[in-house]
Amino acid sequence: MSRLDAFIRRMQAQRACIDAVAGHSRGQSGPILELGLGNGRTYDHLRACFAGHPIYVFDRHVAAHPDCIPPPQFLRLGDFRSTVPAFAAEGHPGAILIHADIGSGDDAASRHLASDLAPAWVRILAIGGFLASDQAVDQVALTPWPLPDGVDAGRYHLYRRLH
Ligand code: SAM
Repeated sequence: MSRLDAFIRRMQAQRACIDAVAGHSRGQSGPILELGLGNGRTYDHLRACFAGHPIYVFDRHVAAHPDCIPPPQFLRLGDFRSTVPAFAAEGHPGAILIHADIGSGDDAASRHLASDLAPAWVRILAIGGFLASDQAVDQVALTPWPLPDGVDAGRYHLYRRLH
């Protein structure tokens, strides 16, 4: 598979997972978290799918398309290892979805980052809330959830906090 094919499939997998969670969560209240603003592509899609929900966005810096810059009160700038546990300690309502698109070019470092963040993700999620992630995580409180049709195993990862 060419790198272009792999990129396209990753984007399709992200969109399919976000759309699937939006379908499951219709009518529920609660915040959405976006980890990894990047250029704002998935943030923009989350805004479209979860209109009316607060969407908190985390990144080291803002380098997004000007149309995809979150309002300052929803932006948490700094290292995820600080900003995500800090958010968990703030006592927000349980989140419907954490979308974690946190990978860098270093696969081992990205896996390590996800495993460091996973305990805080569990604290942030509502019972019934979803994690859609570019990294696999191994957390007893997060049950692997079936991927939408057309998404190959391992291309993206979907989990649900069931208890
Ligand atoms: N979802 C984005 C989009 O659709 O455009 C792409 C996100 S990009 C793959 C990953 C982002 O995570 C980068 O913007 C990077 O700055 C951020 N990032 C990676 N590790 C981080 C860390 N430890 N703390 C804060 N931000 C981090």
